[in-house]
Amino acid sequence: MIDKFTDWLRDSAKVLHENAAYLTELDSAIGDADHGANMDRGFAAVVAVLDETSFDSVDELLKKAGMTLVSKVGGASGPLYGTFFLRFGTALAGLSLTPESIGTGLRAGVDGVLARGKAELGDKTMYDAWAPALDAYDAAVAGSGDLGAALKAAAEASAKGRDATVPLEARKGRASYLGERSVGHQDPGATSTTLLLESAARTLA
Ligand code: ADP
Ligand code: MG
Ligand code: MG
Repeated sequence: MIDKFTDWLRDSAKVLHENAAYLTELDSAIGDADHGANMDRGFAAVVAVLDETSFDSVDELLKKAGMTLVSKVGGASGPLYGTFFLRFGTALAGLSLTPESIGTGLRAGVDGVLARGKAELGDKTMYDAWAPALDAYDAAVAGSGDLGAALKAAAEASAKGRDATVPLEARKGRASYLGERSVGHQDPGATSTTLLLESAARTLA
């Protein structure tokens, strides 16, 4: 499983690099035009760590990825995604990797995002992509029990949550400074969350 998680982080880095201009364009409409650069820089640093370190466990790998994101990315997204991976890894420590434990880990990661960012559903943040993804993941695990199906369901639900940020007025982060002028724009963080989950669906199952 550790190879698959390594593949996930490497594939995410590639996709975030390819989408850096797009994410920055989204952030230029309702933020400060750095989300693509932030994610690209953070995940490039994670890949640099993967290149020079070998990990004995998935929880150590995820924790290190989280610490790297916290230390290399400023702004809102570094601490938020960093906390996600830190808590994800921490929750997996000592557990065998099953669709259920991975779901528990994902939820622990998102609980960390909430603890740090205090976002609620509908605030037009990355949480609007995470929340439906977690619910779809759990429902698929309860149904088929298949990791691949659950990750695919999570990625699809995340994309719908991302799209649903467009008509919302932002209530957290820089976009909230715009008030109703944030309406009509897709949230950059919800967009990067969907890219991470689409990558997970390709690499982790
Ligand atoms: P910054 O806004 O500091 O420049 P980024 O541009 O990298 O940081 O990330 C912006 C994204 O972070 C937003 O699109 C949003 O999804 C997310 N975000 C901002 N504040 C919060 C928060 N309090 N809770 C959850 N997500 C947030
Ligand atoms: Mg920004
Ligand atoms: Mg910024």
